[in-house]
Amino acid sequence: MASRECVVCAGELSGSQRKYDKPECAKRGARAEWILKTYGITLAEWDLIWEHQGRCCAICKRKPRVKEDGTEETFHLDHEHAQGQAGPVRGILCPYCNTRLVGRLKSADRAQSLADYLHTPPATVALGRVVIAPGRPRKRRVTARRKRTAARKV
Ligand SMILES: [Zn+2]
Ligand SMILES: [Zn+2]
Repeated sequence: MASRECVVCAGELSGSQRKYDKPECAKRGARAEWILKTYGITLAEWDLIWEHQGRCCAICKRKPRVKEDGTEETFHLDHEHAQGQAGPVRGILCPYCNTRLVGRLKSADRAQSLADYLHTPPATVALGRVVIAPGRPRKRRVTARRKRTAARKV
């Protein structure tokens, strides 16, 4: 006879329950299966990485937002796409850092160039002083109503 315990919390299964005794366990179990299939790590290993990072995005240090329904925003396990979709697991990132930062920069060398550029701006080094740019003058905001009036006059 098959085990009559919840595969997540080992609670007793009743009636038609086959793997999980509670909806939370079903959710956690489905997530564990997905993480194992997609990333090759267990949920316990995910938690180890997450704890190691201080429970925040490894780059911007942001914590997941709590959504209106009380659940936490999903952060992504970033991995290198070395062979097609497959590649070494790196860490857990917020959606922004995963797609906009790591996804764009891709290589450690380029990320290092960016850090060097920000730490040691070439303009400052070449000129031997920090030049403060006044910036472009701000445009006056044109309201939608004014835009419509202007269009009618033409
Ligand atoms: Zn359970
Ligand atoms: Zn981030």
